[in-house]
Amino acid sequence: MNTVFLGTLAHLLDNPFQHPGALEIIDRGALLVGPDGRIIAVGAKDKICPGLSASTTIVDYGEAWLLPGLIDAHLHYPQYYAVAAANRGLLSWLEQTVFPEESALARVDYASRLADELVRRLLGAGVTTAVVFGSQFAQATKSLFAAAKQYGMRLFAGVTLMDHGGPEPLLTNPETAWQVCEALYGFCCNENNLHYLLTPRFALSCSPALLEMCGEFMRHHPEVYLQTHINENREEIDAVAKAFPEAEHYLDVYDQHGLLGPRTLLVHDIHPQGAELRRMAESGCSVCHCPSSNLFLGSGLFPLRRHIQHGIPIAVGTDIGAGLHFSVWNELPEVYKIQRLQGVNLNAAQLLYLVTLGAARLLGIEAETGNFEPGTMADFWVLDLEDDLYLKHRLAHCESAEARLFTLMHLARHHCRAVYIQGKRCKSRHL
Ligand SMILES: [Zn+2]
Repeated sequence: MNTVFLGTLAHLLDNPFQHPGALEIIDRGALLVGPDGRIIAVGAKDKICPGLSASTTIVDYGEAWLLPGLIDAHLHYPQYYAVAAANRGLLSWLEQTVFPEESALARVDYASRLADELVRRLLGAGVTTAVVFGSQFAQATKSLFAAAKQYGMRLFAGVTLMDHGGPEPLLTNPETAWQVCEALYGFCCNENNLHYLLTPRFALSCSPALLEMCGEFMRHHPEVYLQTHINENREEIDAVAKAFPEAEHYLDVYDQHGLLGPRTLLVHDIHPQGAELRRMAESGCSVCHCPSSNLFLGSGLFPLRRHIQHGIPIAVGTDIGAGLHFSVWNELPEVYKIQRLQGVNLNAAQLLYLVTLGAARLLGIEAETGNFEPGTMADFWVLDLEDDLYLKHRLAHCESAEARLFTLMHLARHHCRAVYIQGKRCKSRHL
């Protein structure tokens, strides 16, 4: 049986950084979804509804907005309870706040509860796809995959890999790391919505042998993804230069071990050299920008324009626990402000692209999710202004639909009323 969802629809048809008319907003719109969860048609209610069979279920969200499921391109599962801790920058924050929290996931029951809470919290904020640094403990990371599977979330994750620069229980070695990654990778291969992600923490936590293991694993399993941090903070960049004196620059440390390619997602890249951007573009890497984390740790202002000029795909992450939001939707005002400080004006279409279709494309899952294109899965969330009189009245002052969307991005903080993955509602008892 088909279902038609009614409301105001907003999504991207293409990349608005290249195609200014890529944003489509349909007032009194309709989204027709088949029993398999795939979108059959999208358009104006007046055009779609008259042709529907009597058996079609109608779900009318009135004046609420239906938006594509959000994609959080970077966060840390074991840092769920490390959010909003006072800090003095990246390296000391890792020592004082992060490592103790991450060590706590050795307790299997605690790790499992945390995984359940995290997945429910993300879904409750409209996030239907997440790219996640898992725990250093294999059992805990398994709990994360299990929670994602239970609730139907699309998940890219893996065990956080480090073999020095942290407390002993968090450290691995290349042989053990290979075995753990192989086992979890095998688990993901049998699941449609789960993808294995290699996650070497960053150059300062990984020996050349561990990085080499990651490169070897990628060559062995070409469908695996890799995510790591780069160029976050000046102190970190100086330390990497000292630890790897033979590397031309930070990116070269990863390049020398065969870690670059179209399935590689580099996080932060706030202070890149020109040579690094050229090499990223040449190798097909993407970059994930984490605005509230960058501001909270005082890491710097992300040079978005330079990345766009080099043709490097960009996504946005919350970077929990350095970030302050559980929804990438709430990161969008920070994205906007960081660019304003550098004289760059982003519009609503560009902002929405970064957390929906743009992220789906760089992960290679745009045939499944990212917009309302017929044939893709119906992953979406419902932004409802029902009780927010101020916001309702404020929107009435907007001159265009795009202006309303921009205002919503800045003012609608906790307005997610329902979330659908593959056409099925994530039950409220889970959220
Ligand atoms: Zn991070």
